[in-house]
Amino acid sequence: MTIARVELDVPVVGPFDYATGDTDVRVGALVAVPFGRRRQVGVVTALAESSPIGNSRLRFVERVLPVEPLTAETLSLAAFCADYYRHPLGQVLAITLPTLLRKPDYGKRVQAWEYRLAAAASDVKANIEPRATGQLRLLRALASGEVLDSVRARLIYAGAPRLLLEWVEKGWIEKRAVRAKSSLSGRLRPVVSVAVAPNTVPTLTDEQRQAVDVISETLGQFVPWLLHGVTGSGKTEVYLSLIERVAASGKQTLLLVPEINLTPQLEARVQDRFPDLEVVSLHSGLAERERLARWQQARAGDAAIVLGTRLAVFTPMPQLGLVIVDEEHDSSFKQAESLRYHARDIAVYVAKSANVPVVLGSATPSLETYANALSGRYRSASLTLRPVARAPTVEFIDVRKQHLDHGLSADALAAIGDCVGRGEQCLVYINRRGFAPVLLCRACGWMAQCQRCSARLTLHSRALKLRCHYCGHQELVHRACPDCGNQDLHGLGQGTQRIEEALRAQLAGARVLRVDSDSTRRRNAFAEMRNQIRSEQIDVLVGTQMLAKGHDFPKLTLVVILGADHALYSSDYRAAERLFQQLMQVAGRAGRADRPGRVLVQTEFPSHPVYKALARQAFADYAADLLAERRRSGFPPYVYQAVLRAEAHREDQMWSFLRTAAGKALSLTDADVTVYDCVPAPIFRVAGRYRGQLLVEAPNRVAMRYFLARWHPTLNTYKSSLVRWVIDVDPVEL
Ligand code: ADP
Ligand code: ZN
Ligand code: ZN
Repeated sequence: MTIARVELDVPVVGPFDYATGDTDVRVGALVAVPFGRRRQVGVVTALAESSPIGNSRLRFVERVLPVEPLTAETLSLAAFCADYYRHPLGQVLAITLPTLLRKPDYGKRVQAWEYRLAAAASDVKANIEPRATGQLRLLRALASGEVLDSVRARLIYAGAPRLLLEWVEKGWIEKRAVRAKSSLSGRLRPVVSVAVAPNTVPTLTDEQRQAVDVISETLGQFVPWLLHGVTGSGKTEVYLSLIERVAASGKQTLLLVPEINLTPQLEARVQDRFPDLEVVSLHSGLAERERLARWQQARAGDAAIVLGTRLAVFTPMPQLGLVIVDEEHDSSFKQAESLRYHARDIAVYVAKSANVPVVLGSATPSLETYANALSGRYRSASLTLRPVARAPTVEFIDVRKQHLDHGLSADALAAIGDCVGRGEQCLVYINRRGFAPVLLCRACGWMAQCQRCSARLTLHSRALKLRCHYCGHQELVHRACPDCGNQDLHGLGQGTQRIEEALRAQLAGARVLRVDSDSTRRRNAFAEMRNQIRSEQIDVLVGTQMLAKGHDFPKLTLVVILGADHALYSSDYRAAERLFQQLMQVAGRAGRADRPGRVLVQTEFPSHPVYKALARQAFADYAADLLAERRRSGFPPYVYQAVLRAEAHREDQMWSFLRTAAGKALSLTDADVTVYDCVPAPIFRVAGRYRGQLLVEAPNRVAMRYFLARWHPTLNTYKSSLVRWVIDVDPVEL
């Protein structure tokens, strides 16, 4: 008897054995199986002759889903992720498959029926109560000669399913089987249309041409590339030329972007350039049916270009010829929950397995990638010039010397006013949403605090609500201080809403638009805003980092940066790197077209190195400084980290779990790792749970994998059932 070893979407390590009976099961097949009292879809990862459980005790594979089995490449990628990120293989497979393929009845054919009148309508009518209007409606439809299917019948009268059966028994109507339809067939919803510039192909600059040439020479082999190009240097044109060459040889390109909001724009640009090529875009905003259809095009090798956010890195592409990761430094490539993978790292792995080049593009590469380029492990190509735009000028407003009105200095306001007066656009960047981050009582010092988290509540003005950005808790603003009764509570500090309000008040007539995750929650909201901005219906944009990435607004000439100092106080060693990347990105939004751009930074520390570097647009110098510091203090990329994160309702249980885990780690004496102390998480309590973490460092990936493979299985102690925990490998935040 053949036994199928099946990986299932359960938190327990598989595989699980099933008898195949007379079903033809292959490795990689998706199968529906019974599990406990439920049915589940699993992936067959191996076939065997006998099972340690005993063949006679096995349950049977119920059906094989009507899709091509997963390939060996897909299975081995999943196995790598499961091992590297310490996640059950069955769950990794489930995450990487389109949701519809996880339904046991996927592709089952359902029998459809048609009904038509068989007796005289008047005879039937005589038997229907005059008040039964639904029944009469149904009869009228049948009497008009219509042939009803069950869906249509139910639309006419909700009680149709039962009624039709009765009528069939009485001989009033006839029932006939019709051709079966797949239960999950259906039409695709059209995608949002985006305006693109007309189909013009610019002549590449010398630098662009050179980059395309050197990278093209490596097609057909695994070479990791850093494409280091200042903002506005035309990295996208380099990607497009490379894609063209790859497609010309019948191969596929995987193009990853950090933000869902960037995909429609880029998809339109790519499709516009290559009208004859199949471009599929995969992002988290797709309806499931669309996702599946596009996934199947990719895996059939029909899609020449697969474009998407981080999850797209798992798309099976049999003809893969090139992988591109745009804005590779962006931390949204790291998934923050469940399978905590880094799509950029997986992209490199995928390219290596397929033996193709991978291009990591950025104006501000991550220090990991940059160090690899410096050391020669990655090759690099640079774009230092801007074909159309010029480097922005950066100036500082020293807020220690200025009075601020709702967080805005007079100089900043004047510059914004001038910019609007010239008919140009301005972006006011503040990376905090809400109205004010603190609600304060000036009389006694009380601040509104979340009851369930060790975090302050953010004031959201329009609804006069306080919201916790960690657990989502909301409450109405207090009328008076709960401690001293003072009625004059004060919103301290600024968020996007307050700046929006202040600008509206100060700049009469200016059209102000706020773009943050609150204002863009609705589907397509961002695309609509983007069109408004591009068609110049907006003068001043107020936005978070959502606006910093990759967008191209030709009329935007001024960027005002507020509240950036905040990041200088962070305890995270990556804060400086991230701040610099954000500032360089947002500064790159200014002066994209023929007008020069100007960047104004409001700060208390105009001579801080991060601002100095920004003013000189000096990535290389600043990155070299940061790398030297990382090397001195032993931080990544010079060491490899993993964090065990734990949380529990009872603080003592959380600590006890972490300490036991630390003890286990220390007892693995042949492992080449450093185990640090158990410490509280930066936000110690979230949604009523106490959170702590334990950092482990290794000198290289191999040592880390070896250690984790031995440590991880020991963590399922008796305490772990009371504690939620996860290992975060290569964390981007501590
Ligand atoms: P990046 O992604 O590097 O910030 P983009 O690829 O968005 O830059 O290009 C910036 C602008 O320069 C775009 O408007 C693009 O159309 C234009 N551009 C790029 N390459 C050229 C070129 N060779 N000639 C003229 N314009 C170009
Ligand atoms: Zn008070
Ligand atoms: Zn909270």
